[in-house]
Parts: sequence; structure tokens; C-alpha cells
Amino acid sequence: MALMPIRKLGDPVLRQVSKPVPKITKRIIKLLKDMEETMYAADGAGFAAPQVGILERLIVVDAGEGPMQMINPEIVAYSGSETDIEGCLSIPGVSGYVERHAKVTVVWTDTHGRTRRTEAAGMLARALQHEIDHLDGVLFIDKATGVQPPVDESEWRS
Ligand code: ZN
Repeated sequence: MALMPIRKLGDPVLRQVSKPVPKITKRIIKLLKDMEETMYAADGAGFAAPQVGILERLIVVDAGEGPMQMINPEIVAYSGSETDIEGCLSIPGVSGYVERHAKVTVVWTDTHGRTRRTEAAGMLARALQHEIDHLDGVLFIDKATGVQPPVDESEWRS
């Protein structure tokens, strides 16, 4: 296992769309482990592969219920809405209020190749939406109000 350098706002990789993972290989399993370790070391609740410069649809989340390593996660249902404060390991020191679905159902593949279905609310629902946005090149500052301190992306360099 190894810690990976976290890509920061201004790095174009964070604005690209990630590709679906066609096959679970040893490389994918190791990458998910490394992402999980990097997330914990940075005290995050979620982490997405583009944040380490890899454009594949992989995320890890732990919103207090234990870690989940998710391959090709997709939101298939949602309801309600909730606004709360968010930050991002790729935009250190910045926070803002983001309106998200209050509940989401996510279908994903685990590292054994099994299809899983997770119904989430609260912090977990928020973390899943934030991380899945990363896979489409979307950052929380795109959706946030009251961003503090205000961010000018062109002034950030990785
Ligand atoms: Zn983030």
C-alpha cells in the first residue's frame, strides 16, 4: 500500500470525464487500497480516482459506516434535497454549501465483481454524490453557494 499525491484544483485531470472500468484486475484492487489509505491519511470521507490523476470510475467512501470501495458507481434513484457544508481534498482550505439529493440509491460493483445496491441518506448520500461528480469532472465549487474563501480556478496550480 502507498499514499498517493493528491491532485489539486487547477490540474486539468480534475475536469475530465472518467472511463468505466471493464475488468477488475490486480492493478484496480491495489489502486482502490491505495486510494483508501490516501483518503484516511488526509482525513477525508471520500475520494475519487481522478484525484490521483487516474481517469477511471473508481471511488472510496467512508462516512462513518466503514469503508466501501466502489467500481463504476451510478446513481439510479434519488429523492428529497438537503443543503450542507462541503469541502474537498483537492481544494484544501475551501468550503461551501451544496444542495444535494437527501437520499440516493447507488448501483456499483465490488472488488469481487458482485453487483451491489446501496441506499444512502445523510453524510453517506452526500459523499457518494460528491465523489460520483468527480468522475464526471464536476467539483463541489461548481454547485456551491457561500464558497469561502472565494475561488478563482485560473489562479490555482497543482
Ligand atoms: Zn472532492
